Amino acid sequence: MNPHLLTHDTADDYVAGMSRVTRLVAQHLGAGAPSTGATVADLAPVVDAVDLDRPAADLDTALAEVTDVYLRDAIWFHHPSYVAHLNCPVALPAVLAEGIIAAVNTSVDTWDQSAGGTLVEQRLVRWTAGRIGFDEDAADGVFTSGGTQSNLQGLLLARGEAVRAAGTDVQHRLRVLATEHSHFSVIKSARIMGLHPSAVIPVPTDATGGMSLDALRHELESIRERGEVAMAVVATAGTTDLGVIDPISGIADLAEEHGAWLHVDAAYGGGLLLSLRRRHLLEGVERADSMTVDFHKTFFQPVSSSALIVRDGATLAHVTHHADYLNPRTAVTPNQVDKSLQTTRRFDALKLWMTLRVTGADAVGEMFDEVIDRAHQVWEVLLDDERFEVAAEPVLSTVLMRYRPEGVSAQDADSLNPRIRHALLDRGDVMVAGTVIDGRAWLKFTLLNPQTPLAHLRGILETIAATGDQLLAEDAMDELRLPFETLAARAPQGTGAGVAR
Ligand SMILES: *Cc1c(COP(=O)(O)O)cnc(C)c1O
Repeated sequence: MNPHLLTHDTADDYVAGMSRVTRLVAQHLGAGAPSTGATVADLAPVVDAVDLDRPAADLDTALAEVTDVYLRDAIWFHHPSYVAHLNCPVALPAVLAEGIIAAVNTSVDTWDQSAGGTLVEQRLVRWTAGRIGFDEDAADGVFTSGGTQSNLQGLLLARGEAVRAAGTDVQHRLRVLATEHSHFSVIKSARIMGLHPSAVIPVPTDATGGMSLDALRHELESIRERGEVAMAVVATAGTTDLGVIDPISGIADLAEEHGAWLHVDAAYGGGLLLSLRRRHLLEGVERADSMTVDFHKTFFQPVSSSALIVRDGATLAHVTHHADYLNPRTAVTPNQVDKSLQTTRRFDALKLWMTLRVTGADAVGEMFDEVIDRAHQVWEVLLDDERFEVAAEPVLSTVLMRYRPEGVSAQDADSLNPRIRHALLDRGDVMVAGTVIDGRAWLKFTLLNPQTPLAHLRGILETIAATGDQLLAEDAMDELRLPFETLAARAPQGTGAGVAR
């Protein structure tokens, strides 16, 4: 019996081992802070010291090592003081599904490697399509590793359609339209696809931060006049910073008029598909040609879980290749590899399936609604707090603020706020994000934990203020010190030099 492979012979070791690792993780779930503030300098030597050419003495030793190199200093997204990036606490049924997925090790590329796995994924794709408002019989899609890959595939399909309509020599004249707040994966995709270096045209935004329809119309007309081809318009449903949702219906009208593919990047806002109170914010998505939904953001799924859903399943043929050894043209069984950029692929769909079957779609939607409620509450608190500046009213669950007490200039606030953020990161007890909008530095809360009470978030604001005050006090001390040091430097050797510090 080989003790290192999961087979019937090692089933008892498997049960015992899983119980050990789940207990280990459970111990760390109670961490008092989202981070220990460990630095690269702290951790790199610990990781480098491990001799990978020789195994550890036993499982216990290996797990102790994992704790040292990773677990103890992991970043905990479920912690109420983690309000940084778009990372969610995870649905417990989905984590349990991970246990099944890893152990069975299904690959959903072909039917003969997955059986029911393929059908479960297809059913969830149809379900998501139904939520979008697509005709479920015509629509299709596939699970992907994330929004980045979903966006890439959406744009690949758009190119496929553009080339089919206009011929292969159009490649260098293809253009993609998106606002400057669209995700960077749009530009990256264009680069990967070998489009013209300036293929992605930034469409100006209006006062709401969403795509300006007048500007889009103007850009589309200019493209036509220059003899270029508008391959796709990317509408973002939930920008990463402000959560802004582009005016999808109006964009759909213009895209249709100009024969451009409409891709909706709902990596962030996709959770609204399950919202009982805010589904209307996604109005118009049923007119998209393709849509990105990141389940690992607002559906509370463990990384990775995302999908690209298309209105017309036939367009997925642009990524199909038939290999005799895998998915021959004559295959009679459903093979998801025909629709995917990946070949071997995790059965991530089971996580969403388990979540819908145990937690339920409405409860997931309500969790997203709750964090959006909380973002509004924090925004109102900030409106009343004169020490802070606050950006526009949140649309989804991000809130942008900057600490700028009386007497601090806008410019000084631009350097103070990133310093506050780094001071917090160094300590590890609070993690907030930072961003720059129109040249001004902001701090950002991204709220995805529905259990975090407003009082806790008020506490984080106080921590930000106290940290800011401390930094300002240190600056004032430095300024006081300056003339003293200047004097000391001028003094004859051996008298006051160096005393200042
Ligand atoms: C997060 C995000 C992406 C990228 O998704 P990944 O899953 O991180 O690859 C794309 N678009 C938007 C709007 C996002 O918020």
